[in-house]
Amino acid sequence: MPRKTLISNVKRIVVKVGTSTISQKGKLSPAKMSHIVSNVAELARQGYQIVIVSSGAISAGASALNKEKAGLTIPEKQAMAAVGQAILINEYRKLFGREGLSVGQILLTEDDVKHRRRFLNARNTLETLLDLGVVPVINENDSVVVKEIKFGDNDTLSAHVAGLINADLLVLLSDIRGFYWDLSDPDPVEEIHRITDEVMARCGDAGSEHGTGGMVTKIRAAEIILRFGEKMIITHGGEKDVLLRIMRGEKVGTIFTGTARPLSSRKKWLAARSHKGGVIIDDGAVDAVVNRKKSLLASGIVSVSGSFDMGDTVEILSTGRKRIGKGIVKYNHEELQMIMGKKTRDIEKILGIRFYDEVIHRDDMVIYD
Ligand code: GLU
Repeated sequence: MPRKTLISNVKRIVVKVGTSTISQKGKLSPAKMSHIVSNVAELARQGYQIVIVSSGAISAGASALNKEKAGLTIPEKQAMAAVGQAILINEYRKLFGREGLSVGQILLTEDDVKHRRRFLNARNTLETLLDLGVVPVINENDSVVVKEIKFGDNDTLSAHVAGLINADLLVLLSDIRGFYWDLSDPDPVEEIHRITDEVMARCGDAGSEHGTGGMVTKIRAAEIILRFGEKMIITHGGEKDVLLRIMRGEKVGTIFTGTARPLSSRKKWLAARSHKGGVIIDDGAVDAVVNRKKSLLASGIVSVSGSFDMGDTVEILSTGRKRIGKGIVKYNHEELQMIMGKKTRDIEKILGIRFYDEVIHRDDMVIYD
């Protein structure tokens, strides 16, 4: 499909800026940053709403304190992030200031998007900033997070942010021009519609020396975005006027675009939530949830894996292990082990109590494309 058509309805864009895109030899490069900033400012003048997710804090902190980034311990990296984040946001503030724009800094952790209330709080703040014409600049709150509540890389974080603000497009600016079937090809693939096993297998390890990502995390971000029913582009952040050219409809980088209709905001939140376990369901239940848009009942479940509580998210799989979707469960894993395969009317006899008729309500379920 022509790029122009693909991006014609885009209004809200999340731009993820990788460390390599804004630094030179391990140091923040004001020249490289100003190129991105002037493109964003121009698009803002054209009426687009843009949120930036920027890496570079740890790198900027390490260079300010004359430390080598490689070999730092985790608390040292967190300290570098604390120093570097201030430098990073100050640089953005100066550069956007020259364009007559203000920036607002938001530092997120995975917890902030996992819990519905915190998600809504963050969303309200971002919506207000956008209404005010301020450019939000987001990063992970590296200084306070431990592994369990960490996105770990800004590719994943930016996909979550795209869900948070209901963006129509995520652009990942990196040091690679797109997704390649073969790295010796002259140009990247123009369009990808589905994250198949072949796509995953081609990811390799294209990470750069400064960033955390690599192609794997970019493809995972694409998977989330395609589930949302939205679009994502991977391209090289150093190419001249890259953001302006994308929005002019030029064939820049690789675009990921599926056939699914965009999910509602709440379903996006759900689709991006990590799951704590899984349920395997029989063919009748697959038909009910996929084709007949029904809730999932205990009778269709053939096995349960992982440990989860009521209210947690679990993945739904077919007996052939195809990933069907995910949803919020109304029973914990122990209860589910006892009631799986059973009729709804028997739940009370088995558990002594029947909280809900369904195990996953239709409204709490996302079915993958
Ligand atoms: N949050 C990290 C930083 O600002 C970067 C993570 C990443 O590169 O994906 O340094």
